[in-house]
Amino acid sequence: MRVEVIGAGVAGLTTAFELARLSGNRDVQIELVERQPQAGMGCSRFAGGMIAPWCELQSAEPIVATLGAEALEFWTKDVPVASIRGSLVVALPRERAELFDFSRRTQNFETLDAAGVAALEPDLAGRFDSALYFAQEAHLDPKQAMAALVDRLAQMPNVAMRLGAEASGDADWTLDCRGFAAREDLARLRGVKGEMLVLRSSDLRLSRPVRMLHPRRPVYVVPRKDGLFMIGATMIENEERSRVTARSVVELVNSAFAIHPAFAEAEIVDMGSDVRPAFPDNLPRLTRRGRVLYINGLYRHGFLLAPALARRAARIVLEDAWYPEVCDADSG
Ligand SMILES: Cc1cc2nc3c(=O)[nH]c(=O)nc-3n(C[C@H](O)[C@H](O)[C@H](O)COP(=O)(O)OP(=O)(O)OC[C@H]3O[C@@H](n4cnc5c(N)ncnc54)[C@H](O)[C@@H]3O)c2cc1C
Repeated sequence: MRVEVIGAGVAGLTTAFELARLSGNRDVQIELVERQPQAGMGCSRFAGGMIAPWCELQSAEPIVATLGAEALEFWTKDVPVASIRGSLVVALPRERAELFDFSRRTQNFETLDAAGVAALEPDLAGRFDSALYFAQEAHLDPKQAMAALVDRLAQMPNVAMRLGAEASGDADWTLDCRGFAAREDLARLRGVKGEMLVLRSSDLRLSRPVRMLHPRRPVYVVPRKDGLFMIGATMIENEERSRVTARSVVELVNSAFAIHPAFAEAEIVDMGSDVRPAFPDNLPRLTRRGRVLYINGLYRHGFLLAPALARRAARIVLEDAWYPEVCDADSG
């Protein structure tokens, strides 16, 4: 059987990987086709890389946490690029009601006082007098994660990667992982713009993502290696893909500054923007049309949901499985 996987973002890379892994002794030849000259040049490169199934319950349905919990094992054991160091959720004293509200919507956390915050993140000592700590959550660097997947795929004998290429359309199965570009086929798909910054500071150490709650301008900081911090992310209901506005930069930097003043002196190393592919309910879908399966709608949960969706997509192709919680005969 020949299977063409179109699009080498996090959805396509994980799908090709799981299909190759689960195909076992079956004769399955997989081609991963990407239009860009490299994998991971779409929306996935801008992600924060938070693998935070329980924090996401703040605004997501329970299915997101259920599927997202599978990502913890995937990114720590199958493709081990993530660290489980937990997530810390804070609010300024005047926004304490936000913390209470967050705690009512989420699960699997403990409440910390000022000493607890200082013990976890010494550089935040004295800045927040209470916090929520989600100890079992993880984070990763999306570019590193996608590079690791590309390396693994290159070692799999039944996988070929074609970069800078278009799909042939003549395979036995097509797994369409084109993200927002699939809107030409999936009319209900919309884009939710997200902008992010990468700052460098040698004056600050954080060991885990820190989310700061705010009624209008929530922000998160994800530490990366070499003193880099990803600051994200705006959530704007428009489909403009690549323009980072001055207002968004000001808001993101101001919010980061409220987490720690060292960000005022940080160097802006990178910034970027893309649209998150989302269905009207912000839930992912495996949409089947004959022998074409669309894996899409990952919204703000690309790295969180891709492993679970990829595994299910592979079983649909290999075993004719059906998963009512995410499958849709046609959501276009
Ligand atoms: C600022 C920001 C922060 C985010 N933070 C997080 C986070 O912390 N955690 C998390 O889990 N998610 C996060 N996300 C969401 C995540 O980035 C997306 O859900 C995810 O990237 C979607 O992945 P995808 O593979 O569907 O799409 P993409 O990454 O866009 O991949 C689609 C690929 O298909 C290719 N393609 C398109 N058309 C064709 C064609 N005709 N032929 C061949 N190839 C084609 C594209 O070039 C691209 O490489 C964030 C998103 C943004 C914008």
